[in-house]
Amino acid sequence: MEIEKDYDEDLGLDFGENSFGPTRRCHNRCLFCFVDQMAPSMRETLYIKDDDYRLSFWQGNFVSLTNVGEKELQRIIDQKFSPLYISVHTTNPQLRCRMLNNRHAGKIIEQLERLTQADIEMHTQVVLCPEINDGDELKRTIDDLSRLWPQVCSLLWCL
Ligand code: SF4
Repeated sequence: MEIEKDYDEDLGLDFGENSFGPTRRCHNRCLFCFVDQMAPSMRETLYIKDDDYRLSFWQGNFVSLTNVGEKELQRIIDQKFSPLYISVHTTNPQLRCRMLNNRHAGKIIEQLERLTQADIEMHTQVVLCPEINDGDELKRTIDDLSRLWPQVCSLLWCL
């Protein structure tokens, strides 16, 4: 299909709020979960634990990929959901399972490698927990992620 429009003209497509169905929820119980630490009585949407790669692509939400199996990973690749924003925290599989309280969290480096091979651009983040994923563990994470440059093109860390 060909569309002719001026550079600054709106495309005229409206995908609506729920155009891709319900938001995929987070399956983790992170040690540091910022949603769990939210003060009570705030607006309801602030308590939603989303973990949806479509929202990552669409609006820059960070995702853990722990709810992404082979089928979804292939969909990301086939449909070129790029860039993605990924909460890594650590590339040590056992430590990541412990930090996210999720036994499916340990395959992050394999997932990042697959996405790298598919030329998906990735922005990553680490929530630094003292004496858990800092020090040598952080060095390992940085080393592992730097091997995936330039597809992994940024690492943000927060305390
Ligand atoms: S991924 Fe972790 S930090 Fe984010 S909402 Fe889920 S439990 Fe909380």
